[in-house]
Order: sequence, then structure tokens, then C-alpha cells
Amino acid sequence: MSITAQTVWNNCLKFIKDNIQPQAYKTWFEPITAVKLTDNALSIQVPSKFFYEWLEEHYVKLLKVSLTKELGEKAKLVYVIKMENTYGNKQPFTEKIPSSNRSAVKSQEVDIPLNNKNPELRNPFVIPGIRNVKIESQLNPNYSFENFLEGDSNRLARSAGLAVASKPGGTSFNPLLIFGGVGLGKTHLAHAIGVDIKDKYPEKTVLYISAEKFTQQYIDSVKKNNRNDFIHFYQIIDVLIIDDVQFLSGKTGTQDVFFHIFNHLHQNGKQVILTSDKAPVDMQDIEQRLLSRFKWGLSAELQTPDFETRVSILKNKLYRDGVEMPEEIIDYVAKNIKTNVRELEGAIISLIAQSSFNKKEITIDLARVIVEKFVKNTKREVSIDYIQKVVSDYFQMDVDTLQSKTRKRHIVQARQLAMFFAKKFTKASLASIGSQIGKRDHATVLHACKTVDNLTSTDKQFRKYVEDITKKLSV
Ligand code: ADP
Ligand code: MG
Repeated sequence: MSITAQTVWNNCLKFIKDNIQPQAYKTWFEPITAVKLTDNALSIQVPSKFFYEWLEEHYVKLLKVSLTKELGEKAKLVYVIKMENTYGNKQPFTEKIPSSNRSAVKSQEVDIPLNNKNPELRNPFVIPGIRNVKIESQLNPNYSFENFLEGDSNRLARSAGLAVASKPGGTSFNPLLIFGGVGLGKTHLAHAIGVDIKDKYPEKTVLYISAEKFTQQYIDSVKKNNRNDFIHFYQIIDVLIIDDVQFLSGKTGTQDVFFHIFNHLHQNGKQVILTSDKAPVDMQDIEQRLLSRFKWGLSAELQTPDFETRVSILKNKLYRDGVEMPEEIIDYVAKNIKTNVRELEGAIISLIAQSSFNKKEITIDLARVIVEKFVKNTKREVSIDYIQKVVSDYFQMDVDTLQSKTRKRHIVQARQLAMFFAKKFTKASLASIGSQIGKRDHATVLHACKTVDNLTSTDKQFRKYVEDITKKLSV
């Protein structure tokens, strides 16, 4: 890479950074690399076609201003799209595509080889008139975009969803794969896209289905010997939304049939929307050819919402339910439930219920009790006391014996195991573990952890202890 391209781009970045949100900068500008500078044209490499489109749509002015400052009025910007090189596609494949002519920042004109080799493949199975058969969309109208609050954690997925909804099948986000942990809004967002499409294009056939139900239908169709009807049914859908595709793991028959349906829909410009609890890279037992299809479009992650977003989700929920609640309580709940929007809502719902059933006022104390219940039920924090109890029970001694100063081998081992598990399962420091387990110092704890590690790898009986206790602590 030439020094000058780098310097020019660095200067642009400085300017851009001062003019946009840090999160946006991180998402859209940090992944870019400057590759070349010839005359007035700076080439930058972006990770995907989607990226390029997003930059063009949202940041072209900013890019233009910054680049003009560096290279003068004749400045040009050239995008180089680097396709992600995964799934056995060993050859790095780059393509250049033209920046749109509407901007003064122009790029080279190069043809774009896209995936639409068969743009007008007609469905040979469509029975005349079948389009009039009404297919129930199975959408939940409460899961709308309006109710899906925006935050840094979901901005990309939400915007991509909106883009898909305004032009189903007509963007490069096909399929759109929404992935993320439990309770972060995948199902909600998937419905929202469908609801919005139905709203804008009432004539389009939209279908929402969980991968589980899809699998069940497929199995039934095989049993009843009408596999073809099953396939034809799915092939006439305009917008297919399949929720929780990780469920297809290991189900080769269903994957196979889905692969064919997917290809058919995709070739005909139909939109496919998928959700999954994992990124495609982390999906197990899903065929490569299917995974590589998932990568054709966009994979957008839903992350855990930050504090502000959690507060706005709660406020929106309360507003919709017509309930008022002191700020202080909302803050308390949002501060303490961090990793799952479903639990966040659950806590606020029980808070409302508790107060109205028992005619209690909603106080911080009540909030504390309820939040604790929620947090405890989902992720029971293992305490050092609890660990000592489990370990002493296992060796049939009492906690006092475990903590005593004795040097008897089996007691020393139990104590060392308690220290080892305290280190493993809590966030406590070595010093704090030592002081709680028989008032020892941090060096003793460190020594205990090393001893347990050593014994685990050399002593079969000891390894069994570790395994047994681990199981007891993990239930
Ligand atoms: P997932 O499918 O990822 O497990 P869901 O879509 O079922 O999660 O979401 C769980 C709950 O959280 C739903 O009630 C949903 O309405 C709510 N929720 C999630 N994200 C948001 C958001 N950004 N704004 C408002 N509600 C949300
Ligand atoms: Mg879900």
C-alpha cells in the first residue's frame, strides 16, 4: 500500500471521526482500508457490497467533503469490494463496482458480476389460480418496527430490516440473516419486517414460520407422500421468514429441501429472512452449501442493548400498557437486567402485577425483590459459601473442618478444591477467596489452583472429584 493513499485516508478519517457518532465511525469506517491513490482517485477497500451501499446512502456527502479537502475539486472515490473469504472459497475474490453517478465523487465504471444468472426463471409448478389462494402470514402485528426500539445494539439489523421491507427481494440483503442471543429481539424483528411488507405490499404472500414447524411439516409431507406439494407451497411465497434456523442442525433431509426452496426463491427475486442464535461461522451440522447461501446476503447481529436502549424499551412497554412508573424504578430495573430483553420486560410485568394484585405501591424495595428473583432464576450466582458447602458435602465433612488448619491430606485436598472452584466460578480475587476459605492468603489460593490443575491431569481419581463437583455446581 502506498504511503500517500494511507495519509490521505487518515486525514479523511480524522475529519469524518469529528463529524459522526463514535459507534457509526467504528462500524462503518474502521473496517475500511485505503489501497491505492492515483491522480485524484483514492481507492478504498470495503468488506461487502452492503457496506458500499450503506456508505453511499448515508455517508457520501461526508466522504466527498473530506476527500475534496484532501485532493481538491477533482477528487474521486473508488470502492473495492472485498468479498469475505470463507467457506472453502480459497481464492480471494475482489470486484470493483461503480459508485453511483448521482454523487460528484465518481469512481471507475466496471461491470458487476452478481448472482442473478437466472433472473427470470419461471416456476414450472405454479398452478394457474393458486395465487388467489390466501396464505395466512402467521405474523404478530404487535411485533412492529414502531415497537422495536432502536439502539446501537440493533441499528444495523434494524436498518437492514427496514431496507428489506421497503424493497423485498430488491436489495442485496437476500437472505437477511438476523442472529444473536436469546431474548434479544430476533423473532420480533423478523415479524416486524413481515408486518411492514404486508402493509406496503398487501398483494405479496408473506409467510412466517419457525424452523421447527417447517421441519415438522416436511416430515409429515414425507410420511404422507406429498413432499412435492410441500415444496411447491413454499416456492410460491414472496417473502419467506424462517425463525431459529439453528434448529435445522443435523437434520439433513430438511436442510436439503430448504436448500432447493431457497434457491428457487432467490433466483426468482423473492425475499428470504432467517434468524439464528448463532453467526453462520458458528453453526454446527449445517451443510456447507447452505451456509454459503446464508452468506450471499447480509448477516446482521443483535447485540445486548446498552443502558439507554434498555430504558427506552421499558418506557415504551409501560407507555403501551398505560402504566406510570417512577424513573428511579425504571432505572433500577434497566441497570440490573442487562443481557436479555425478554427478562427485562418480564421483570417490569411482574412488578406491575405485584403492585396491582397486592395493592402495593411500586417501590425500590419491591423492584429489588423482583429483579433479584429474575436474575437468580436465570443465572444463579455461585457464591463462595455455596462452593464450600458443596465441596464439604461431597467429601462428607462439615465446612468448619474444610476451613480448619489441619494438614490431613484429604482435608487439604477438599480445601484446595474449594479454592479452585471459587476461582473458576466467581469473580472474587485470590485474596478474597483466601480470606473466605479459612483465612488463608492469596499465595495459598494460587498454590491450591496450581495443585488442582496438576492433579487433574495426573490423577484419575482426583479428576473424577473435579468432574463430579463441577456437575454439582453447574445444576
Ligand atoms: P429472540 O427471538 O431473539 O429470542 P424475541 O424477539 O422473542 O427474542 O424478543 C424478546 C422480547 O423482547 C419480545 O417481547 C420483544 O418484543 C422484546 N424486544 C426485543 N428487542 C426489543 C427492542 N429493540 N425494542 C422493543 N422490544 C424488544
Ligand atoms: Mg425467537
